[in-house]
Formats: sequence, C-alpha cells, structure tokens
Amino acid sequence: MMPLGEELYSGKAKSVFRSENPDQYILHFRDDTSAFDGKKVEKLSDKGKVNNLFNAFIMELLAEEGIPTHFIKRLSDTDSLVKKLTMIPVECVVRNYAAGSLCKRYGIEEGTAISPPTFEFFLKNDELHDPMINDSHIVSFGWATQEQIQQMQTLTFRVNDVLKKRFDEAGMLLVDYKLEFGMADNGELTLGDEFSPDGCRIWDKTTRNKMDKDRFRQDLGNVIETYKEVAQRLGISL
Ligand code: ADP
Ligand code: UDP
Repeated sequence: MMPLGEELYSGKAKSVFRSENPDQYILHFRDDTSAFDGKKVEKLSDKGKVNNLFNAFIMELLAEEGIPTHFIKRLSDTDSLVKKLTMIPVECVVRNYAAGSLCKRYGIEEGTAISPPTFEFFLKNDELHDPMINDSHIVSFGWATQEQIQQMQTLTFRVNDVLKKRFDEAGMLLVDYKLEFGMADNGELTLGDEFSPDGCRIWDKTTRNKMDKDRFRQDLGNVIETYKEVAQRLGISL
C-alpha cells in the first residue's frame, strides 16, 4: 500500500488524505458502516475493498459517458487517487422507485414506480439530520449558485440514464441513489465522493430482494455477501 500523506478528514466511512500532488487527494475506504446519521455503526469485513472496487468501476463507466468525475485511479484494494474538490454541501437524490424517507414523507407505498424520476436536494449535515432543501435555500444561504444547481441536476439525471440501464441489464433495479458534487481547481463542477451499494438502493429485478445498505439498516444479514453479488452481476472483479 502507498504511504498516505496527512489525514485531512475522517468521515463515517472514508478518510481523505493528502497525496504527493497538491491537486489530488487519496480516498481511503474503511470497513466502518454507519446508518441513521451515525447512530448505528459497525465494521463489516471487506466493505472498504468492495466499495473501492465498485466505485472505481462505476466512476470509470460514467467518465466514458462524458460525466466529469474526480476519480483518477485505484491505488490499492482500499485506496483511490481523486481530484481535490471543494465539495458543495448538498446531496442530490434521484428516485426511480419509492423507498426510504420518501415513503414516510409522502405516504407512498414502497416499490411504487416513479415516473418521471424525482430529484431532491438534502443539506449534508448530520447534526440537523440532512434536511431536505430546495433551490431557493441553496442560493439564499450560499451553498451553491443557480448555475451549479442546474448542472448538478443535469448530471445526476445523466448518471441515472447510464446506470439504470446498466443495472437493468444485470437483473437489478436502481431504486434510488445519492450523489455529491464539488468544484475542481479548473472550475469544473465534478462528481465526487463515491457510488457504491452504501449510497444507493438496488433490488433484484424479479424478487425485489434488497441488495444495498438497507440490509444493514434493517438487519437483514449477509450485507457484504450481497454487495459482492451486485458487483459480480455487473462484471466487477473483486
Ligand atoms: P461523511 O462525511 O458523510 O461521513 P465519508 O465517510 O464518505 O462521508 O467521508 C468522505 C468525505 O470526503 C465526504 O465528506 C465527502 O464529501 C468528501 N469528499 C469526497 N470526495 C472528495 C474530493 N474529491 N475532494 C474533497 N473531498 C471529498
Ligand atoms: N443516502 C445516502 N446518504 C445520506 C442519505 C441518503 O447515501 O446521507 C442515499 C440512500 O442510501 C438512498 C438514497 O440516498 O439510496 C435516498 O435516501 P432516503 O432519502 O430514502 O433516506 P434514508 O431512508 O436512507 O434515510
């Protein structure tokens, strides 16, 4: 494993380190798994590796489709080199089927197909439990500009077009997912953070078996075994 530089930030599941290049960071994927704003935490063996490899595959796929991402290359089983971004503190969520907080908020039955898919912004703030926010809050409180809002929305839906199809072809439904963006030093709005079964919902197309972090949230068991099954279906070698 490459020697890591100074640790800049340690989040709930990943740590960010300086690299030899000031424009690039090292993302270290840990086995720590958290839910409910960090109230439920466990170490799940192999999770760091599975998510790092999963994320590398998805980020490369998205880059091939012309989506600007921070991913540069994988450095080891648990570490990836990424472009340094100034993160925008909002989470972008697209939903193709109803699940999770949407069902509670609007009384929609889990599994209802959503057409057209919805788009929601949440403020990234665990203490406030990531409240849902709208464009007006984002602009008025200076979290992003109207132009950045527009770009985040466009890119998040482009990711949906690419990934929904890819998961479908592999026998799975991409139910919903969360993306985070940031600004690269060259001024380009860029997809950051990760795409892995920790930050999306994936169901088996036929059985609707849950294949994502809901297995951890809901104590369904076989969490990482199921992440590996998703990876294998997508052709990711672990
Ligand atoms: P959290 O902060 O929600 O606990 P993580 O444990 O995943 O999340 O920590 C990773 C942190 O790194 C997140 O806060 C994320 O916004 C940030 N991050 C992801 N990609 C980059 C990047 N390219 N540059 C700077 N920060 C990043
Ligand atoms: N999500 C995430 N991080 C968050 C909040 C949500 O990765 O801090 C993902 C979550 O895994 C799901 C989607 O965003 O795929 C929508 O989550 P939802 O709003 O339903 O919230 P939850 O039910 O997870 O609290």
